Amino acid sequence: ALPVLAVIGRPNVGKSTLVNRILGRREAVVEDKPGVTRDRVSYPAEWSGTHFTLVDTGGWEVDVAGIEARVAEQAEVAIGLADAVLFVVDATVGTTNTDEQVVRLLRKAGKPVVLCANKVDGPAGEADAFALWSLGLGEPYPVSALHGRGTGDLLDAVLDAL
Ligand code: GDP
Ligand code: MG
Repeated sequence: ALPVLAVIGRPNVGKSTLVNRILGRREAVVEDKPGVTRDRVSYPAEWSGTHFTLVDTGGWEVDVAGIEARVAEQAEVAIGLADAVLFVVDATVGTTNTDEQVVRLLRKAGKPVVLCANKVDGPAGEADAFALWSLGLGEPYPVSALHGRGTGDLLDAVLDAL
């Protein structure tokens, strides 16, 4: 079976946009409002000749207020089925308690993690990405899933992790 890369993170950080960017086509559902991605959708993906299964997460049918509470729950399931995890944070927002909770789950699982500092659309956002060193997950990769900035370096790191 192909190695599995699970994309996790809070609603609206740009997971599905990043998945589409990696796939090179619009397949994952992107929404301005959180809560529309179906539970765990898998796609065949490839980078630099390495094939892997990409899992988008985030299907919350509850009200928006209840979404945060389910992020860690969803993340735990996704981490369990993954060989490596792509943890996406919105660098313009920074980290939240939910992110800290997810970091604890990642530590416990001991799976390789690549940290994506998303929504770094230009050089001005680099400082926001740098701030994510505070999560203790190693180097934050500054990325703009929307424009494609930084995704090559991110995917090179993903291949090392898989
Ligand atoms: P998800 O809930 O984590 O899957 O997030 P989505 O991929 O659905 O994206 C949520 C919103 O953030 C959408 O309006 C996207 O267009 C926007 N978005 C995603 N990536 C970026 C990015 O790199 N830069 C900016 N400016 N917006 C982004
Ligand atoms: Mg999504």
